[in-house]
Parts: sequence; structure tokens; C-alpha cells
Amino acid sequence: MNEQWLTFANAIKDLYQKDFVPLHEPTFDETEIEYVTDCVKSGWVSSVGKYVDRFERELAEFTGVKRAVAVVNGTAALQIALKIAGVQPDDEVFMPSLTFVATANAATYLQAVPHFVDVSEKTLGLDPVKLEEHIKGIGEMKNGKLMNKQTGRVIRAVVPMHTFGHPVDLDPLIAVCERYNLVLIEDAAESLGSYYKEKHTGGFGLVGALSFNGNKIMTTGGGGAILTNDDKLANYAKHITTTAKVPHRWAYEHDEIGYNYRMPNINAALGCAQLQKVPMFTEQKRQLTEIYQNMVNSLDSVSLFKEPAYTKGNYWLQTLMLEEQHDRDAILDCLNENGVMSRPIWTPMDELELYKKMPKADLTVTKQLKTSLINIPSTPLKVK
Ligand SMILES: *Cc1c(COP(=O)(O)O)cnc(C)c1O
Repeated sequence: MNEQWLTFANAIKDLYQKDFVPLHEPTFDETEIEYVTDCVKSGWVSSVGKYVDRFERELAEFTGVKRAVAVVNGTAALQIALKIAGVQPDDEVFMPSLTFVATANAATYLQAVPHFVDVSEKTLGLDPVKLEEHIKGIGEMKNGKLMNKQTGRVIRAVVPMHTFGHPVDLDPLIAVCERYNLVLIEDAAESLGSYYKEKHTGGFGLVGALSFNGNKIMTTGGGGAILTNDDKLANYAKHITTTAKVPHRWAYEHDEIGYNYRMPNINAALGCAQLQKVPMFTEQKRQLTEIYQNMVNSLDSVSLFKEPAYTKGNYWLQTLMLEEQHDRDAILDCLNENGVMSRPIWTPMDELELYKKMPKADLTVTKQLKTSLINIPSTPLKVK
């Protein structure tokens, strides 16, 4: 088996023309340098400045929502998204077990309880059909609220996550939310530039969250944003992420316990330059998929994950799906040892010690996928 994986590793190094190929690197050019330099020269590098306003405006336009609020990172964006969507202490929140830990942590910060559900093989994200089956088993409606019969808690919201930039099947999920009075909050941290039925992800629910961490499709160094079509919620998000200070020419009045989660202007300057390139990055990543497809054709019992029906994904991270007979860890060892950075998908949340005792549904597909998915280098390639 090593033979074919060695050949594969060498082909990736040839493709990137490097001896070591990282999983994902940011791509910058003169524009980033120009904007960041302008920001430094202006002196306005910190909590206020024209780039924050501009970045928020341009993000809203790009994602097709009314408002975007820029914050320090994607985890903070998720936490505030859940809070302004009405998630209360002791509420349960449905989310996939197969996600990055920030999704679960955001709920925990609000003293809410993550409730893990299964994903679909077609989207790698939350499965609306299995979600509804699970609700029928454990839930009952009481005074218009979905209650978990086993724990006695209110189930308030659903947080789908668009894995590696591939949108979940949103229409049936929205229908489930309507039937059981659940608030929809999208963890769109990985799906900037991804569309479901030609509409950008992050704007389907009451609130959505983005991340601009260094490894995402675009970066602000560190950063995130809250998306919403509701002006009141956007204003509230801005207020509580900027210490809940009541506007005044000189007085310090704060009307609740807020957070210092604002995005610095210098990060927003980088963001303005990067955002312009998201369509190009997406196109380059989609072309990379075609290049990888040719390479994967010569591997036995391995396929390249392709976008689900009705979606146009950003292919943030390219994903191999291994059939059962493969030894995933041996493949990871081989690729990483030979200069090709590769990673398994996350350990499912329900298997982490800290989240073991949380309520959960049948997670058969999650269990299957956790040992069969590998991410391979995905930095956008300049196409010749
Ligand atoms: C990256 C990511 C986040 C959090 O983003 P940070 O900016 O790193 O805090 C949240 N959820 C998912 C699924 C992510 O991939």
C-alpha cells in the first residue's frame, strides 16, 4: 500500500513545487500590504477605525445579509450568535458531534448544553432526517417549546456546521426548525464563499457566524463575524461585543455585562483586502479538486469528497474518503513523513472526555466518518 501513497505524496509536492506542503496557508499580495500600511500610518490600529466599518459593510454585501458585526474570532462570534438568538443557561442546543470543538464550547460558555446529533454522508453535516427521527424519540412540545423528555430541559436551537465548506441540506432542516420551534444558527466558520441553492451560507437562520482564523479560506490574522438580517439583533451584538458601553461623549456607562470582543481595525484592514479575493480563492480551490480527482483515480478504494446536490462549495479543505480496508493512521503517517501535511477529521465531540456525558442521538454515520476522512493540502493554487 505504501507504494501508491508515496507516489501520491510526490505528486502533491510536484503540484505545489515544494518539499513540504502545509495543509493550508494564507495567500497575500500587494493589496494586503497596502491596506495594512495605510492602517498603521493612520494611527487607527485598534478598536475603532474606517476598516472595521468597511469590512462589516462589505461582508454583509458579499454574504447577502443585512448586517455583519466583526469580532475577535469565530468562537466569540458563535458565542454571541447563540446569545442574541436567545439561548439561555440550561437550554439544550442541537449540533453535530462531528465538528470543531468551538461549536460545543460556544454553547457551554453560555451555560447551555450541547446535544449531539448525527451527520449525513452526502454533506458531512447535520442530517435533518435523522434529527427529526431523534426529536420524535426524545422530544415533546409543551407551551410551544420543544422539551427533552429525558432531561426535562428546553431544546432551544440547532447549530448546523458546513463541514469543510460544504453546505448542509438547509431546506429540510429549516422545515424541522419550523415544526419544532427551534432557532436556526449557522456555524458558517468554514463556508465563506459557499452557496446553497445559489444563496450564500450564514444567512439562512436567525444568526450565523464566520471565522477568519489563519487557516480559513480568508484570514484577518484572527477574527470572526456575526451575520444577521435583523437590525435589532445586529445592534445588540455590536453593543455587547463592545463592552455594552452606552454612547456618550465622555461618560463610562455600561448597561449590562458586555464583552471586549471587537475586531481591531488593523485586522479589518487585512480582511478588506482578503475578502475581495474570496471568489478567486474559491475558484482556485474548485480547480484543485479537479486536479486531485485525477490523482485520486489511481488510488485503490479511495474517493475525493464532492459537493452535495444544490450546493456550490468553497472546498475549503480537500477531503479523501477511505474505504474500510484502509488503515487511516498508517496513511497519515506516510503522507506526513513524506512532506505532505495531512490531518484526520476531528475527534467527535461525544468522544471527548469533557463532552462525554452530554445528551446525544444515534451517531452511526459520525462513527463511520471519523476513521475514513483525511484532509490533504488545500492552499489555493495559482492556475496557469
Ligand atoms: C474555525 C472554526 C471555528 C472557530 O473559529 P476561530 O476563529 O478559530 O475561533 C468554529 N467552528 C468551526 C467549525 C471552525 O472550523
